[in-house]
Amino acid sequence: MKKLIILSLNVLLSWTFQPVNGQINMEPSQLHMYVFDVGDINVFDISNWSPGIDVGKSAKFACPAFLIRHPNGDLMWDTGLSDFLADSPNGRTNSLFTAKLYRTLSDQLMEINVNPMDVEYLAISHLHSDHIGNANLFRNATLIVQEEEYEAMFERDEVLSLVDSLKTNKAIKLSGDYDVFGDGSVIIKRAIGHTPGHQVIFVDLPEAGPIVLSGDLYHFAKNRELMKVPSFNFDKELTLKSMKEIEAFIESKNATLLIQHDIIQKEEILHSPNIIR
Ligand SMILES: [Zn+2]
Repeated sequence: MKKLIILSLNVLLSWTFQPVNGQINMEPSQLHMYVFDVGDINVFDISNWSPGIDVGKSAKFACPAFLIRHPNGDLMWDTGLSDFLADSPNGRTNSLFTAKLYRTLSDQLMEINVNPMDVEYLAISHLHSDHIGNANLFRNATLIVQEEEYEAMFERDEVLSLVDSLKTNKAIKLSGDYDVFGDGSVIIKRAIGHTPGHQVIFVDLPEAGPIVLSGDLYHFAKNRELMKVPSFNFDKELTLKSMKEIEAFIESKNATLLIQHDIIQKEEILHSPNIIR
C-alpha cells in the first residue's frame, strides 16, 4: 500500500500542465480535465474520520470539483461547497467543522468560458453538501448516479435545496459500473459504503495517465494507508469491501488515486485555468 502511495505521488508530480492564455485552445479530439478549488473545510477533530487515530487534532480538507472534457461531451464530477458560502467571509461552522469558500465555482467556470447550462453530464460521488454544493447550476445535464443515491436525492430536506433544480433532468441510474462514453476512457465505479450509493470515477488521461478520483472513499492519505473508516459512514463493512475492490482496480489500471479531500495532494495539482491532459 505504502509503495502505491509513493508511486502515486511521483506520478502526480510528473504531470505536465499547459497554461491557457485567456482563450481555450484545445484539440477537440483529446480528453482533458480541469480541477477547481471550491473551498475548504477545517475539521476540529480528525479522529471522526479516522477512529482512534490523532484524537483531538484539527485538520484541513480540500473541496475540489472537476470538469472532464471528452470529445463527445463534458462531464462535471462533484461540485464542491455551495457558491452561497462566498457571502460568509468567516465561513460557516457546525459541530464538526468550519467550511469556507474563497472563489465561486460559477466564477471559475466563467473564466474558462464554460456555461454550466451547456455541460452534458453531472456525476456526483455522493449526496453530501461538500460534493453537491453547486449541483443546481447544471440544469441541462444528464445525471449519472447510483440508484440508491438518486432515490435519496429529492427526499432529504438537508440536500433538497442544493439539487431541487435537477428534478426533471434526465438521469442514468446505476447499480454498478458505467463506461460513460463507451470507449473506456471515463468509467464510473460503484464504491458504496460511505453512503448507500457512493461512487468513484476513472479517467484515462492521454498525457498525465490514468487516474481515479476518490469521492470520499478515503479522506486523506493516512486513512488509505491504515484502511480507516469514518465513524459516520453508512456501512463500515461495505466501505472496506469497496476500498479493496477499488484498490484492485487501481492496480489493474496502474492508475493514480487522487484523494479529493487530501490537502497535500491538492498542493501538488495545478488548478483551473490550467489544463490536465
Ligand atoms: Zn466529502
